Amino acid sequence: MKSLEKIRNAGLRPTKQRLVIADILLDGQNRHFTAEDLQDEISSSGNYMSIGTVYNCLKKFRECGLIKQVKYSKDTAVFDTNTNHHHHFLDEETGQLIDIDNNKVILKNIPEIPNGFINNGVEVIIKLKRNN
Ligand SMILES: [Zn+2]
Repeated sequence: MKSLEKIRNAGLRPTKQRLVIADILLDGQNRHFTAEDLQDEISSSGNYMSIGTVYNCLKKFRECGLIKQVKYSKDTAVFDTNTNHHHHFLDEETGQLIDIDNNKVILKNIPEIPNGFINNGVEVIIKLKRNN
């Protein structure tokens, strides 16, 4: 599917900026990235976009379910093009995330959910540290 259709199917208006970003992000490869990483890639593709515009586009993409946001890596927001439910390895030194298939993790016991809340999903992070 072309970027234009993907954006339209998600219910977004296909602006030039959104198309540039969709061409980079929605190529079927799973990846984790920050807004700054994406801005660098946009520059490499011969386009210019301010970091504010990049963030705005990512926010829209996230609201429409085209990408997810991962909150636990580095100090900045990390985004994820894999929108299926999955878990992560986290290299604590570099902040790099590696996907773990949902079916590779089996939870045997989770605590009772506090009053006034529902379980909105469990994501496992396995923190990695080099053993040398
Ligand atoms: Zn992921």
